[in-house]
Amino acid sequence: MYILRKVVDTQKRLNDWRKKNKTIGFVPTLGALHNGHLSLINKARLENDIVVCSIFVNPTQFNESSDLEKYPRTIEADIDVLLKGEVDVLFYPDGKEVYPADLNTTVDIDLGEVAEVMEAAKRPGHFDGVMQVVKRLLDIVEPDRLYMGQKDFQQFTIIQHMIDAFKMPTELIVCPIIREAHGLAMSSRNERLSAATRDAAKIIYETLKTTKRRYDGSNSKELEDEAFRILSNPPFRPEYFKIVNGYSLQEIGAEKDEKYIVACAAVWADDVRLIDNIIF
Ligand code: AMP
Repeated sequence: MYILRKVVDTQKRLNDWRKKNKTIGFVPTLGALHNGHLSLINKARLENDIVVCSIFVNPTQFNESSDLEKYPRTIEADIDVLLKGEVDVLFYPDGKEVYPADLNTTVDIDLGEVAEVMEAAKRPGHFDGVMQVVKRLLDIVEPDRLYMGQKDFQQFTIIQHMIDAFKMPTELIVCPIIREAHGLAMSSRNERLSAATRDAAKIIYETLKTTKRRYDGSNSKELEDEAFRILSNPPFRPEYFKIVNGYSLQEIGAEKDEKYIVACAAVWADDVRLIDNIIF
């Protein structure tokens, strides 16, 4: 595996392969890799000649500096995961490589309502930072396929809109949520939970599953309220629980003809913010 810290080295390496008609699959991450990330890497491995993974804790997507500071950084263990996943290139840049002072990397597109609800409403500026870093990384790597997790439902939805808006030649592949044995969605942030809270946090997925089972096409408000109540028992504190149209991310109306529905939740567990979702 090549571990490359510079944009030019990465582009040179990838251009060599591209000239030989190799296809490139790309998995961008913040590091602290777990089996969720590995599932993306494994899928990229199956579908491409070359697999590139990036590790960059992107400051512009953190709306709270304490969250950025506390974000786990485990590069040595991460390299072991990448070797296990037979990744060809780890792109591991520092901030100056991603955001050179003389380059405007701001992504200035108005995505409208998908970028106004749920995570966007609670984390101002978060998706501007996500779009900025993903656009920059796609410009550097120019992959045939980009792999992202369903876990971050709104994130992949917004990135698909961005790819469409810029007419980028990359196909977005969304991979299913990988969970811990008892159901909690895997996340680098789970490491910050106490053992007891981590175990109790299975309530989030259980509530999502119950909501899906009980959904009858017209009771979304009632189910949202009920889920909110269940997830309000300490140490949990829900930020939102929404049943929405999977394309527009807007609340479901009274009409029953919605085809693609997803329930999305953000829940504080002690001082850790967890997100999860389920597609109906
Ligand atoms: P992150 O490092 O948290 O930014 O995640 C990098 C990528 O891995 C994103 O596309 C996430 O959606 C995806 N991912 C994170 N956790 C999981 C999970 N439990 N299952 C599937 N994909 C995940």
